[in-house]
Amino acid sequence: MSSTSPYPNLELLPIAGQWRKGRSGRTLNVTDPFTGNTLLSVPMASREDLDEAYQGARAAQPAWAAMGPTARGDVMRRAVALFDARKDEIIDWLVRESGSTRIKAEVEWGSARAITQEAASLPGRAHGRILPSDVPGKESRVYRQPLGVVGVISPWNFPLHLSARSVAPALALGNAVVVKPASDTPVTGGLLLAHLFEEAGLPPGVLSVLVGAGSDIGDAFVEHPIPSFVSFTGSTAVGRNIGRIANAGEHLKHVALELGGNSPFVVLADADVETAVDAAVVGKFLHQGQICMAINRIIVEAPLVEEFTKRFVERVKALPYGDPGKPETIVGPVINERQLAGLKDKVAKAKEEGAKVLVGGEPQGNVMPPHVFGDVTAEMEIAREEIFGPLVGIQSARDADHALELANSSEYGLSSAVFTRDIARGVQFAQRVRAGMTHVNDMPVNDEANAPFGGEKNSGVGRFNGDWAIEEFTTDHWITVQTEPRGYPF
Ligand code: NAD
Repeated sequence: MSSTSPYPNLELLPIAGQWRKGRSGRTLNVTDPFTGNTLLSVPMASREDLDEAYQGARAAQPAWAAMGPTARGDVMRRAVALFDARKDEIIDWLVRESGSTRIKAEVEWGSARAITQEAASLPGRAHGRILPSDVPGKESRVYRQPLGVVGVISPWNFPLHLSARSVAPALALGNAVVVKPASDTPVTGGLLLAHLFEEAGLPPGVLSVLVGAGSDIGDAFVEHPIPSFVSFTGSTAVGRNIGRIANAGEHLKHVALELGGNSPFVVLADADVETAVDAAVVGKFLHQGQICMAINRIIVEAPLVEEFTKRFVERVKALPYGDPGKPETIVGPVINERQLAGLKDKVAKAKEEGAKVLVGGEPQGNVMPPHVFGDVTAEMEIAREEIFGPLVGIQSARDADHALELANSSEYGLSSAVFTRDIARGVQFAQRVRAGMTHVNDMPVNDEANAPFGGEKNSGVGRFNGDWAIEEFTTDHWITVQTEPRGYPF
């Protein structure tokens, strides 16, 4: 990073209150997905580092939790001010490390800032209860307490936000946190946040960051006896494994799993086509489609298929793609060559299965031009599997019931969208979609700091944001006080 950076030495990891090199003896080269240039070389953490981070978190947590709600909220408020002060630096890292376009980097910066601001209010909102009791002289209290130490594992697509949405609420509610960001994005997924929170006054040891391969320290990160809760955001395959090991060993622990998606985007016959097309273009191509909530299937009621397809294709053909650093770029690079290879396979498979290429083109470096396929059916791989790239297929539905059936014919149930001019009809349709989130007359990509975010079916377990974060990152402790002798039966 530039020598003027307020946060130099980004190759060092904050472990149990010390900034130091990881001790695995292996180095991670962080590369710019557009240029291929190495941005940074980070010595990776070992299992001993992991143990030290968790031990340090356990030691630091009680004093942090004992700080009053205002003091913990103040750290969050100062962090928000630092999000503003360091905005250019953060945006620059998001563009260079994760291949974010400027538009996406702004969106992500805004979401991470918003959840930190929301977190500032959580210490004052977490409250217990006094319950009526059938036992004479008993006071029955429910105390809401921090979980203790929380482990957070985050993905590379919205690294800053998807780490922050666990880290900020968990900290604000009095927990200590150890984060393992994805190997493609260690800076935006963890190290920048640790610098921000340190500068904001978070006591040493309360937040540690471990940069290391999931395959190397992943299991140990979850199995370690200290964290009582693991918040995971990533693919369904890895999440399933984490759920299994969190509950298979000696130590049972809670997990939050925010996993893959396959968002349907339904356009009913009475929809405003222009509005639907505008939403579909952004809902599909923001961040090259690498968003869990991104549109995966466009389902249009038969009378509108032709008109919708024509206008959508016109818009998509005009989308500028290439260098994410240029303000006009809409579609930048995908994160790495492995992702690109997977997307090329998906394109080949779609063609082989009979989908018609309406918009296509050859990749240049890691930049895959936007692709649109027509004549897609529910059985094709492009409809069944999560795409996570700038490709989409359009399916035709006979009527609204068929559209609903197609929308629900997926193992996933994260986000979804339906377009209609009849709001009541839209809400009725939304209520029948099996998903955690459905948006009427908007794209499926929506995340607000005070609204429940999460999925059904294979898209996960648990909810983030607002009151739901209080549920996730605290636990209830029932404490009773017997104020007079109890009439025991023997
Ligand atoms: P991934 O599952 O490959 O990796 C996610 C994280 O898990 C990374 O930090 C990775 O290093 C770590 N990991 C890998 N193997 C591990 C192991 N054995 N033990 C512990 N940790 C391990 O996912 P990804 O490719 O980084 O992200 C893309 C996926 O994430 C997509 O499926 C997408 O839909 C999903 N996602 C979901 C949400 C959501 O909120 N539901 C948000 C963003 C992304």
